[in-house]
Amino acid sequence: LHDRDGKIWMDGELVDWRDAKVHVLTHTLHYGCGAFEGVRAYRTERGTAIFRLQEHTERLFNSAKILRMQIPFSMEEVNEAQRAVIRANGLESGYIRPLTWIGSEKLGVSPKGNRVHLMVAAWAWGAYLGEEGMKRGIRVKTSSYTRHHVNITMTQAKTVSNYTNSILANMEATDDGYDEALLLDPAGFVSEGAGENLFIVKGGVIYTPDLSAGALNGITRNTVLHIAKDLGLEVVQKRITRDEVYIADEAFFTGTAAEVTPIRELDRIQIGAGQRGPITERIQSAFFDIVNGRNPKYAHWLTPV
Ligand code: PMP
Repeated sequence: LHDRDGKIWMDGELVDWRDAKVHVLTHTLHYGCGAFEGVRAYRTERGTAIFRLQEHTERLFNSAKILRMQIPFSMEEVNEAQRAVIRANGLESGYIRPLTWIGSEKLGVSPKGNRVHLMVAAWAWGAYLGEEGMKRGIRVKTSSYTRHHVNITMTQAKTVSNYTNSILANMEATDDGYDEALLLDPAGFVSEGAGENLFIVKGGVIYTPDLSAGALNGITRNTVLHIAKDLGLEVVQKRITRDEVYIADEAFFTGTAAEVTPIRELDRIQIGAGQRGPITERIQSAFFDIVNGRNPKYAHWLTPV
């Protein structure tokens, strides 16, 4: 990924992709205190546009706030940086990765006195869990790793260090032949995927874990809440057990990378008919209408680059 042409926005300027480097004594590399975002730009009839740019930037600033980090740029500058990298790399659509980290002035657990940095990169990225998975649904395994307790590394911040837990869970699941992991909270209730929020459908009602289960407040999750309302579907946010997922009619993951991905199986137990369910399909198709600019109601969620 690092040795290629292109531009990365780094601390206020566009630098050559190959030269966007940090020192090995970077504080965040040693202790994991940093925050990032995952954002997508889509092709629309009116050109390339970034989906829910302002909300992603706000979450990045909130993540930094939770980590007691002061991003040395304004939200407007960070919004502009994301538009600039899409343009500079000539992308029609793609994934945008802003990241803020602590510099290499000194080591030791306390980051005080170190500079805070920010970079934004962008590249083309198709369906995160595979094109096939988008149509047929993916196979998921309940992780043997527990999702973070709400008072450990902070679950509403998209922090670098939170992803060690996601990596362990994803590697375990994929080594066992599954597509993705589902993590439970410390009390044993369903929290989220390694990089996705979870929804289930039962008797025509949609359920998703409430945020007290330590799931990230996903922007795609929020988009699905809007879609469900528009479709006249009831959504209940509550505590969910793993066996409620087994006996659901449908299940799906949401995320900026994963978009809306149906789940056909959990722990080798078939969910519903074992394929993308009808409500999942309606939500998925409404989602792609919105991100591709085909639903005027949500035109304000698309920022042209
Ligand atoms: N949970 C986790 C752990 C994630 O990494 C992500 C992806 N950012 C999500 C949920 C979904 O969030 P969003 O829809 O904002 O991308």
